[in-house]
Amino acid sequence: MKDPLRPHSGPRIRTLTVGKNELPVLDFQGRDQASGPSVVLTANLHGDECTGLGALLALIPRFESVLRRGRLRVLPTLNPSGLERRQRRVPQDDHDLNRIFPGSAQGSESDRLAAAIWAELASARPDLVVDLHSDAPQSLPYVLLDRATGLSGEARRALEARNLALAEMCGLTVVHEYPDEQYRRFSLDKSLSGAVLNRLRVPALTIEAGPRLYLNPDDVAVLEGVVLRILAGMNLTDPVNTAPTRRVAGRWRRDSGPRAPSPGVFRPRVTLGEQVQAGALVADLYDVYGRALPGIYAENAGFTLSFVERTHLSAGAPMCTWAVPEVP
Ligand SMILES: [Zn+2]
Repeated sequence: MKDPLRPHSGPRIRTLTVGKNELPVLDFQGRDQASGPSVVLTANLHGDECTGLGALLALIPRFESVLRRGRLRVLPTLNPSGLERRQRRVPQDDHDLNRIFPGSAQGSESDRLAAAIWAELASARPDLVVDLHSDAPQSLPYVLLDRATGLSGEARRALEARNLALAEMCGLTVVHEYPDEQYRRFSLDKSLSGAVLNRLRVPALTIEAGPRLYLNPDDVAVLEGVVLRILAGMNLTDPVNTAPTRRVAGRWRRDSGPRAPSPGVFRPRVTLGEQVQAGALVADLYDVYGRALPGIYAENAGFTLSFVERTHLSAGAPMCTWAVPEVP
């Protein structure tokens, strides 16, 4: 009997139900060959981060016609309750899903959600997993690379090199995660991409693009192009023409940005991606009477990946997410 959801050859569509959350799972197969690489695309893990969801919804009607080889599994929202309530965390228990992978079948709703998502990731036997996130309205799109802290020696070097090579095909600024000690302390090895890299030992990329709470057509279009480049790079599709994206070349790592020395309203003196030296004045600071306060200076050489989505900073608060040179 024909599946009513598959009038033509379309994707296989399933629903993964965990408590109050119903997650769509779409499986596409290459027209010419089902064998070949397997890629999983996920988005909207943080329920308020919507640009990735927007890009996947725009691409779902197109995947069927462009996919030639291999298999593609798409989960457009991993946190549908958070999407509805514009919340980062899973509303049922207020946990950050991106710090608890591979989850637990016995735990709270977030634990069970993570376990169910993990089973979908693992059963796809992926060659690459790409998780789409959003940072802020004023941000450069960038690829965030996890640390394979669960591995050592040649195994770690080879997996991280493979991951870096795949990140480079996105055409975006490439940023490594915090150094090992912070990476583990922040439980980033239990993020979706961190767990895939460290436990499945499979390449995994986190992409940060666009504002969180609304779909900006330009940012959605940039991300669509990135996804199509990834699929072509993985040989699932033939080469595609996509508009180049703005990119800061080089090897970088994520750092928290320059901090306000006192409370105040900040006005940046730098633009996104503008590289400055250590000690540079990067923002002016004012009180609400219009009096200039001592400004914000860069402690390290680097550039702004995204400005915080606020105007007033408390003392010691960073004005942005910062990128510093990655020292191998
Ligand atoms: Zn996120």
